[in-house]
Amino acid sequence: MGQFLYNTHILTEIPLADSEAILDAHTLEQVPVTRWTAFSWSHSRHTLFATCRRRYYLHYYGSRRIRETNSRVVRAIWWLKQITPMSAWIGTVVHEAAAAALRAVRDGMPVPDVRVLARERFAAGLEASARGRKLDGRWLVLWPDAYGGSGTGSPEELLEGLLDNLLASDTYKSLTNLPGGLFQEIDEAFQSFELEGIARLGTVRTFAIPDVLILNDRTLRIVDWKTGSTTPDSVRWQAGIYQLYAGLTYDLQEEEISVEIVDLTQGSSGEPAGGTPGFAETRAFIETSIAEMVDLMADVDYHTVSIRDFPMTDDLTLCQTCNFKRACRRE
Ligand code: SF4
Repeated sequence: MGQFLYNTHILTEIPLADSEAILDAHTLEQVPVTRWTAFSWSHSRHTLFATCRRRYYLHYYGSRRIRETNSRVVRAIWWLKQITPMSAWIGTVVHEAAAAALRAVRDGMPVPDVRVLARERFAAGLEASARGRKLDGRWLVLWPDAYGGSGTGSPEELLEGLLDNLLASDTYKSLTNLPGGLFQEIDEAFQSFELEGIARLGTVRTFAIPDVLILNDRTLRIVDWKTGSTTPDSVRWQAGIYQLYAGLTYDLQEEEISVEIVDLTQGSSGEPAGGTPGFAETRAFIETSIAEMVDLMADVDYHTVSIRDFPMTDDLTLCQTCNFKRACRRE
């Protein structure tokens, strides 16, 4: 963990007020926005905004333009952002293994052993993180190597439990028996759509990351694996966002799209509780969320913000599991 400790050490050397002043100057600097710094929206952004304003600030603004800035504090925030909870890494591993199997079905190739794939990937991640090396060209900093402790029970048991539920699920079995030509998307990277007519911003790139899309004539089935804890409300809105993404991307009506959530932590599946919100309801939800975020911008055209408008939460229990706790001096 040499790189991580080396790059975050600055946060233990200087007072909080000094690092906040450096970040404030950084996020208020008026530089023309680019594809990388323009505002975009996602459900995870909405969730972080609601959880802790400071966490949202550090995640989305604190480490922007890291190369041009050449600031040790900004670099430290970038490294804290890379911290991945063990449960999230396990979820990623299961998603990747399921996607590899379904791509083989799509391509008419032999289906790999999902358990073997997942276990190998899991172990590779543990080793890369512990040794402070990149995994497939990207840094992976697992929680235990940053802050100690696993933050979860036995990681191996969690992995095996998710795999058991995946392989036992009727949804997974049915997908592995489908004709390959019906698979439209399998765990694609950075699925997004353009939401037009947003107040004060115009068009906003909106991310939706559904796992599997099956298109049969004009009937589209969306399947999403859930591998971590979440709330029913969150699942419902995510389903609405997936449906809106599919409607705009494939020019379909909402009644032509179904969303199936497969909860691998519980071994259950079905439509989200309360049903999938329609296009109009989902769009209204996104617009309200964006408006709250825009209200806190210092300058909308330059997409700048001030740290003063993003206070730390008073709920210290949230800080215990937050990857930015070193930045807030709440370790
Ligand atoms: S450590 Fe606490 S106050 Fe700081 S960003 Fe995280 S949740 Fe917010």
